[in-house]
Amino acid sequence: MPFSDLAKYVLDQELCAHCGACLVACPEDLIDFHDLFPGLVERAGFSSCGACRDCLDTCPGLDPATAGSEARLFGRHRRQQERWLGIYRQAVAACAAAPAVFEASASGGSVTALLAAAMKCLHLDCVLVAGRDGARPWRAATAAVFTPDALIRFSQSTYQIFPHLGLIKTLLRQHPYLRLGLTALPCQTQALRKLQGLETPWGEIIRQQVVFILEIACSSNTLPLGTETLITDLARIPLKEVQDIRYRQGPYPGQIAITTKQGETVTVPFWQAVRHFKDFKNHRCLSCGDWMSGLSDLSVCDGEPNIFKSSQDAAFPPKFGMVLVRTKTGARVLDWAKWTGTLKTWPHPLREDNLGLRRKRNRRGYYEKLGIPIPLGPIPGYREIFEPVPDESLIPKIGIYD
Ligand SMILES: Cc1cc2nc3c(=O)[nH]c(=O)nc-3n(C[C@H](O)[C@H](O)[C@H](O)COP(=O)(O)OP(=O)(O)OC[C@H]3O[C@@H](n4cnc5c(N)ncnc54)[C@H](O)[C@@H]3O)c2cc1C
Repeated sequence: MPFSDLAKYVLDQELCAHCGACLVACPEDLIDFHDLFPGLVERAGFSSCGACRDCLDTCPGLDPATAGSEARLFGRHRRQQERWLGIYRQAVAACAAAPAVFEASASGGSVTALLAAAMKCLHLDCVLVAGRDGARPWRAATAAVFTPDALIRFSQSTYQIFPHLGLIKTLLRQHPYLRLGLTALPCQTQALRKLQGLETPWGEIIRQQVVFILEIACSSNTLPLGTETLITDLARIPLKEVQDIRYRQGPYPGQIAITTKQGETVTVPFWQAVRHFKDFKNHRCLSCGDWMSGLSDLSVCDGEPNIFKSSQDAAFPPKFGMVLVRTKTGARVLDWAKWTGTLKTWPHPLREDNLGLRRKRNRRGYYEKLGIPIPLGPIPGYREIFEPVPDESLIPKIGIYD
C-alpha cells in the first residue's frame, strides 16, 4: 500500500508541501485532497491502493530530488557556491512595459509579462496561476487562464498555501492536447520535475504537455488560517463579507487590501501582515531548504532586497524584479518578451541579501541542527555552518506604525 508509505514518510512527519502532485501522479485516481491534505478516495470495495509508488516518487515533501532533475535539465549538479540560487545563465532586472501590468503587479509585473510572452512564443493554450475560490473569495485556488490579456487579473503574490498542481489532471483530461505553462513555488516546481522524470503514463503526459515553469522565490508560505485571521482580527471584517483579497496592492511593496461585498476596501501594511503570518507556518515550510528550486525555466524575485523594511519605513523604493534565466526555453521567452517590447530589462547585480533568502537560510541552519526529519537539501550532505539567530532579529518590530 504505497499511499501508506506517503502517509508514513511524509504526512505523519508533517512534510507535506500541499502541492497536489500526488493527485496528478496516481494512475488509478485514488488520491483526492481534503482541504490541504491528500487522502485515499472512499470507494466501495477497495481496501488497498495497489503496488505502485508514483505518489511517493513524485512527492517533494521529504525528497525534492534536485540532483536528479538538475542532471536531466542541465547535465550537471549545482556547485557549493550555487547552493541557494541554483544553476542559471543570466540574471537581469526587469519590469513590465505596460503601465497597467506594472501597476497591478507585486514587484513590477515581470511574471505577468513573461507569462504573456510564453503564451505567444511557446504556443501555450493555458497557464495556471493563483486565483481565488469562487465560494470563499479569501481562499486561494488555482486559476486556468486561456488568454494573455486575462493574466493581469491574477497578478500579485498570493501568500497562502493551496494544492496548486491538482487542477492539472482535470484540465488535461478535459483538454487532452493542451500545452500548459504555470507559475509555481519551489516545492511545486520540484514535484513537476520529479513527475516529468517518471516513466509512467502521467510522467509522459506531464513531460509532453507542461512546457513552461515560471518559479517565484519563496521565503515560506502561510496556512489559510493566516489570511483568515488577518481579515477577521487585523482588518476586522467578517469572512462572509469578503469580496476579494489582494496581497501587494498599491505603491511598492504594496499592502494587503481586502474588499468587502459593500465595495469598501480595508488595508493592512505589508510588514504587519508578515509579522502576523509568522504564527501560521507549518514544519515543511519552516524547515524547507529551497528559496528557489533552481529547476524552473525562469525564476523571479523582488528587486528590492528588504521590502519588509521598506514597508515599515514607508520608503517606496523603485519597483522591479530580478529574473533568473535557467533553461533554453526560459531564454527564448525572455528574448521574445524583450523583442516584442513586453518587458524592460537592465543589468543589475543579483544580491544575496534578500530578506526572504536570509530568513530562509537562517531557519534552515536552525532546523539542520535539530536532527529531526526535514526536506533534503539540493546538495547531498551540505550543511549551513553559521550559528542561526532568532528570526525576530531579522524582522524587527520597530517602525513608523508602532
Ligand atoms: C509565498 C511567497 C513567498 C515569497 N517570498 C519571496 C522572498 O522571500 N523574496 C522575494 O524576493 N520574493 C518572494 N516572493 C515573490 C514575490 O512576492 C513576487 O511574487 C515576485 O517578485 C513576482 O513579482 P511580479 O511583479 O513579477 O509578479 P506579478 O506580475 O505580480 O505576477 C505574479 C504571478 O504569480 C502568481 N502567483 C502568486 N502567488 C502564487 C502562489 N502562491 N502560487 C503560484 N502562483 C502564484 C500570480 O497568480 C501571478 O500570475 C514570494 C512569493 C510568494 C507567493
